[in-house]
Amino acid sequence: MKVLVTGGSGFIASHCLKALLSHNHTVVTTVRSAEKGENILAAYPESFKGQLSYVVVPDIAQEGAFEQVVVSDPPFEAVLHTASPFHFKFQDPKELLDPAIHGTKGILRAIKDNAPSVKRVVITSSFAAITSPDVHPDVYDESQWNPVTYEEGIEDRAKTYRASKTLAERAAWSFMEEEKPGFSLVTLCPPYVFGPPIHAPKSQDALNTSNLHFLMLMHGGWKEKLPPTGTWLWVDVQDIALAHLRAMEVSEAGGKRFFITADHFEMKEVAEIAKKNFPEYANQLPAQLLSDKPDSLYGFDNSRSKEILQLEYLPLETSVVDTIKFLQHHGV
Ligand code: NDP
Repeated sequence: MKVLVTGGSGFIASHCLKALLSHNHTVVTTVRSAEKGENILAAYPESFKGQLSYVVVPDIAQEGAFEQVVVSDPPFEAVLHTASPFHFKFQDPKELLDPAIHGTKGILRAIKDNAPSVKRVVITSSFAAITSPDVHPDVYDESQWNPVTYEEGIEDRAKTYRASKTLAERAAWSFMEEEKPGFSLVTLCPPYVFGPPIHAPKSQDALNTSNLHFLMLMHGGWKEKLPPTGTWLWVDVQDIALAHLRAMEVSEAGGKRFFITADHFEMKEVAEIAKKNFPEYANQLPAQLLSDKPDSLYGFDNSRSKEILQLEYLPLETSVVDTIKFLQHHGV
């Protein structure tokens, strides 16, 4: 298939590119600058050159950002929309909300108007769009929605990222209902995504948000006390990349939302794995590793992802060990 992937410089998107290329798909990815595009191409051997290219889209929040990008020859058959800001360094909440919401609506509009050959669109949503942080249900699954509003996203910094993901995904499903385009939609909702990046970050500041915990652990930030776990669910980046590939290829996935999570976890387990596999970090951790898991922790149901997308899920130990090894190897 010929596939458009947005945000190819991202942590998750770079694994999606790798999965798509290794399954012989032809990929065009959007990036914010030619420099980022060239860095991605440089990471692949010559044999992939005809299969991968990039186009520059400096800001997905801009009106019409995708109008021409979705037009290609031969035409695209599928689109993976992963680009969306995931960080907490914003000054104005609209720095997160606008690209997430306008970017999602914009790409769907552009595909409907200009790319009738596209039959499947996969959007990277988040567990942030499912969770109800104030009152958890007994078991989380795809039927639940975060009740957060746009106004809360503007007024409360702690809710801005979650609002950006929830409202973007809601906008996507509303678009499908109102516009009835010629493609089907799949949304993927992962919690914490861990695992080694493909591209070494240029500095510690450039490391993707969900792997920052590992950096803190390695550089003494966990010495006095483990960080609070907060979200008790995780998935490896290779599994979420595989989920994108299967969501695009499997016909039965169309029209569905998927909760993509491997299992529960807590920071105490991450610390124990680090201590066992990297004795050099033992003195970077508290002598006593205490659990912060509540007695009645919510459950999760990831059965749809196993049945339809055939996901098997990597264990936490593999993900933690591979991530720390990658960061060590690249001197991050
Ligand atoms: P990254 O920060 O690594 O990737 C985000 C991507 O979006 C980058 O390519 C970035 O470009 C691009 N981007 C952000 N804002 C804009 C904009 N205004 N215009 C154009 N491009 C933009 O994050 P992840 O890979 O972790 O996240 C990818 C997706 O997965 C996001 O939608 C995120 O919400 C979702 N997700 C991530 C989870 C995680 O734990 N990592 C968990 C759940 C969901 P650039 O590199 O140039 O900044």
